[in-house]
Amino acid sequence: MRFGPQETPSETPSWFEPPERVHQPRRPELSDRPQDGRVSEWAAARCDEIVGDIRGVLWRFTEGVADVLHPGMGVAVGAAQRATKWGPALIGLNDGRAADVKIGLVGSENLGLWTIFRTRLGQSDHGPRPAWCVDLPVGPLGAEGIREDAAVLSGVEEVKPSDVAPLLLTAPAAGAPTRLLARVDVRRCAGVVAVDVGDGVWQRRMFFTIVHPASRAAGHHETYRVVCPVCGRRRLAQFRGFDVCSDCGWLNTQT
Ligand SMILES: [Zn+2]
Repeated sequence: MRFGPQETPSETPSWFEPPERVHQPRRPELSDRPQDGRVSEWAAARCDEIVGDIRGVLWRFTEGVADVLHPGMGVAVGAAQRATKWGPALIGLNDGRAADVKIGLVGSENLGLWTIFRTRLGQSDHGPRPAWCVDLPVGPLGAEGIREDAAVLSGVEEVKPSDVAPLLLTAPAAGAPTRLLARVDVRRCAGVVAVDVGDGVWQRRMFFTIVHPASRAAGHHETYRVVCPVCGRRRLAQFRGFDVCSDCGWLNTQT
């Protein structure tokens, strides 16, 4: 994976500012045409069927930027890389619910380092979404290398068309020079993943945020929430140092 710095990101406010509960605007329905069946097939799929083939790219990017986002992580990441058994886990939070938005995590409980992601079929995820979803531009790539004073870090990796096909409404042509771009806003620890299907155009396909809650707290919850303050449902997934709503992706790192 190649990394490069980038310009200052946009500051588009999110639709939700937790913890106040906000009335949810209705998300536009996805059309099931012209790719009949693709939307329902996608909704029925598990997270690992959607992002399983790019989990390695996501994790390499997460490891690559971890020390800039969370200074001091580099030593632990280096040790983890030498111990190959510490591969990343992929967890689909809303598998089996026929959700048209997939929410999941790729990460390592050992490192306390996770990438929480959210993806929806089609080019963009318009409509209500959690505060950590940052609308970064997928514009021009900067020079190679990780610059510690960069506002945005980007990584590009060549991938197989079949690796990114599950993210797309229409699969790229066999043999197309497909690429994946990951880009993170350093200050907000959040970013986007985009796909180039071989035509040189970056299609934004995923929001993510990188969390290292072990750096913020001892790792146990002092508060216990049952109900998500954003969507009102009761399916918060609890991890060491943070909660994430398995329905809407609301994230709580205030332990
Ligand atoms: Zn929720």
